[in-house]
Amino acid sequence: MAKQATKAKKSSGRSGGSSSSSNKSSNKSSASSATMTSEQNTMLEKFMIDSLKDIYWAEKHLTKALPKFEKAATSQELKQAFQDHLEVTEEQIARLEQIFEIMGKKAQAKKCEAMEGLSKEAETVIEETEKGSKTRDVALIISAQKVEHYEIAAYGGLAQLARTMGMNEVADLLGQTLEEEKETDQLLTQIAENDINLQAEEEGGEEETEE
Ligand code: FE
Ligand code: FE
Ligand code: FE
Repeated sequence: MAKQATKAKKSSGRSGGSSSSSNKSSNKSSASSATMTSEQNTMLEKFMIDSLKDIYWAEKHLTKALPKFEKAATSQELKQAFQDHLEVTEEQIARLEQIFEIMGKKAQAKKCEAMEGLSKEAETVIEETEKGSKTRDVALIISAQKVEHYEIAAYGGLAQLARTMGMNEVADLLGQTLEEEKETDQLLTQIAENDINLQAEEEGGEEETEE
């Protein structure tokens, strides 16, 4: 009797799965079907999870980079924008953790090469511009917008993918973050246009020689 039971447990064949007459006597073999979906990841699900790990790393990295941007910025408005976005970023990290939980996965960060590169580039422009100059602010705004655009691409794509895969709650959460990144991008444009760009252009005249 014991031998028969082990054999039955291992058999994966779903004979008579479509029949409506489910007999209570076969309750031993029915346990596996409920957990099947969460354990079996399709190629696309794996990609989705890896992408979430990537953006999770990126956001965490930004919590270290944004204070550096803030410190390097000259104008108060830009400093404030970086400070505000740091708070938003922390909420976005919590939101990603919520997403991992919904998906039944451990929140794990996987190095995002792009974000590392973008923040390195930002550090370079800080080094190459003069402290206290509006030119440095212009450079910082563009660096920050490159970051936001990367995030917009990531969250936009993943939100849409989650929707396609029927994960509406995940899609909504990703969509919220997407909107925040877009707002930040627009705010940075506004700061540049009113009117750090102009101020930077004016300070550029210092080395002009007069006749
Ligand atoms: Fe973000
Ligand atoms: Fe990445
Ligand atoms: Fe952002």
